[in-house]
Amino acid sequence: MRQHSPRAIAKKHSNYKAKERTISLHSGHWRRIREAFLSQNPLCFYCQQEGRVTPANTVDHFDNNGDNNDWNNYRACCASCHSRKTAGIDFGKRVSWGCDRYGIPLDPGHDWNVRKDH
Ligand SMILES: [Zn+2]
Repeated sequence: MRQHSPRAIAKKHSNYKAKERTISLHSGHWRRIREAFLSQNPLCFYCQQEGRVTPANTVDHFDNNGDNNDWNNYRACCASCHSRKTAGIDFGKRVSWGCDRYGIPLDPGHDWNVRKDH
């Protein structure tokens, strides 16, 4: 039996309307879509816009809508561009900020960055 192509799976899911992501990031479906997309688009789209050549390892939803699984809505993306983009969109949600070079958390909501003396 012929397997559905990742593109066909993405198209099928793009018709769904749901509050949650229609394709779980940990599902086999997403992994296949991601692998197929990255094999066609091996370089980070956002880095290329700025003249850098960086291998992509993530597939980003260009319109930030995790439900829009149109193949044209995917962009190959490196980890740093993706976390920068996601941090801007998901501000206030669970964002992994990391630390600066002094070991101070970059998260403005972190205890160390929130003044308590007023
Ligand atoms: Zn990048």
